[in-house]
Amino acid sequence: MAFGSSIVMDQPRTMFAHVLSVQGVAVMVTNHRVQPLPLRPAEGSSTGKLVCQACGRQFLVTVHSRTRTTAKRVRYFVLGLAGLALAALLLWLTFDVAMQPDGSDPDMDPDIASWFVYTGIPGVLLPLLGLGYLINARTYDGVDKLRRIDEDGTASIRTAGHKLLPSR
Ligand SMILES: [Zn+2]
Repeated sequence: MAFGSSIVMDQPRTMFAHVLSVQGVAVMVTNHRVQPLPLRPAEGSSTGKLVCQACGRQFLVTVHSRTRTTAKRVRYFVLGLAGLALAALLLWLTFDVAMQPDGSDPDMDPDIASWFVYTGIPGVLLPLLGLGYLINARTYDGVDKLRRIDEDGTASIRTAGHKLLPSR
């Protein structure tokens, strides 16, 4: 086993899988036949052809270089933090506006009501989006866009029975 991460990193940890069978009703047992993805390019991205060893169908998969993968992970991390920070800011602004003893009218001011609509929805979505980005920043493996090549040569997003298995 090589301890140098340089060798390991050039082979994406994600595997390509042909789903052999799904069995069971109460307990789902899925058997995969896995095979490694093409190696990472030295720089940029490369879309490589992949032939399923189980059924012989052809696929395309895009693999990014180590540099680009790291850059994307950093970008996801920054976007995730920005999303969470913005959500916190919105919540703080919302409470700040809501807490103000604004005149003697107990009914909600229409301006404040619409303010809640603008801050409430992003206030829910932004943290989810931010967390999604942060998870992506941890797990992103620099592998994108699995496509099946149809008989007529066109690439299709329908990869029925095949998928990318992220490593754990
Ligand atoms: Zn297959």
